Amino acid sequence: MNFSTSPATPQSVHRLHDEASGLDGVIVLHSTRLGPAAGGCRLWRYDEVSAATRDAMRLAEGMAYKNALADLPLGGGKAVLRLPEGQFDRQRLFAAFGRAVAKLGGDYVTAEDVGTTVADMHTVSEHCPFVAGLEPKVGMPGGDPSPWTALGTLLSMREAARRHGCSSLKGLTVAVQGLGNVGSHLCALLHEEGARLVVADMRANFADHVAARFGAAVVAPDEIISARCDIFAPCALGGVIDAKSVKLLRARIVCGAANNILATDEDGDRLADCGVLYAPDYVVNAGGIINVAAEYLGWSAQEAESRVRQTGARLGEVLDLACALAVPPHRAANALARERIAGLATLPQAAGAA
Ligand code: NAD
Repeated sequence: MNFSTSPATPQSVHRLHDEASGLDGVIVLHSTRLGPAAGGCRLWRYDEVSAATRDAMRLAEGMAYKNALADLPLGGGKAVLRLPEGQFDRQRLFAAFGRAVAKLGGDYVTAEDVGTTVADMHTVSEHCPFVAGLEPKVGMPGGDPSPWTALGTLLSMREAARRHGCSSLKGLTVAVQGLGNVGSHLCALLHEEGARLVVADMRANFADHVAARFGAAVVAPDEIISARCDIFAPCALGGVIDAKSVKLLRARIVCGAANNILATDEDGDRLADCGVLYAPDYVVNAGGIINVAAEYLGWSAQEAESRVRQTGARLGEVLDLACALAVPPHRAANALARERIAGLATLPQAAGAA
């Protein structure tokens, strides 16, 4: 197996620039080997398009691995757009984005991500059919994927906690960083399970709202990483685990929905060296893309739900493989995903062979 740390080269990078609408960013297709490159569209502040491109490349690679390990007939891609300065016409921007997606002829399928909404995807759908995350039709999957991402994250936490000898999440303390679409749903599910919550968000009103609903303790955004807890759940942006933050961490488990939680693969090794169980982000947060895939590929809501409910089992298989190969879980997951994309392995075979 290949445990290389160097990022794989993407299949293609498409620069998007439209002065009139303010569209400025990239679409990265990491791989279309298993199917169309699926992955959401992020709208965020970037000083330079080079920073947006770097982010898109990592995110697209993560999507390819996520889709492969979730057993979806999809490759991986990502769109990252720079948030225009000041006022801008959102519909015009996403219309231009829709036209750019159309030009790729179905090689890229978009949906929501940080900073984009169902309404934005509707605008995209007026200009191309290669979009999911739209309002669901009755009995069909679709709409906001965040509740499914949150459910998969909860099931992953249960599996990770089980590895630490806890039969449930009841009474465990979970520190949730970021209380947006996914984080807020996750807090609701954790509250139902009887977990204690410590939360933080850059938007203080989001944290206050979660505190009021679920009795969560609120801490400042720069204190959540060092909060006393059993599980640290990053649900904001990526890169939160780095050489510095590993030392601050007091959790025994890191399991969250954010993409690219590890700043580098070496930071995942550092977690393992400290005895912290890291649940690979793209295994944990696949619920959203499963729902998006179901919508795009025409699967039923039941099929989507049953696939999301396998998230804990899929994490369990990756953790078993990591144990068998004596490597940290993120390296086992990466190696397995690369083999799947190359057509060399399926998850159960690889786990059995190890
Ligand atoms: P969101 O934009 O709705 O929420 C993110 C929240 O994080 C915001 O409320 C923001 O204020 C907060 N935040 C940003 N930086 C922070 C910091 N340093 N400390 C505390 N809070 C901070 O986004 P989302 O849809 O909830 O997605 C969250 C993460 O999960 C992202 O990394 C996303 O890529 C990933 N993800 C989301 C989905 C999905 O279904 N939405 C699926 C897979 C992965």
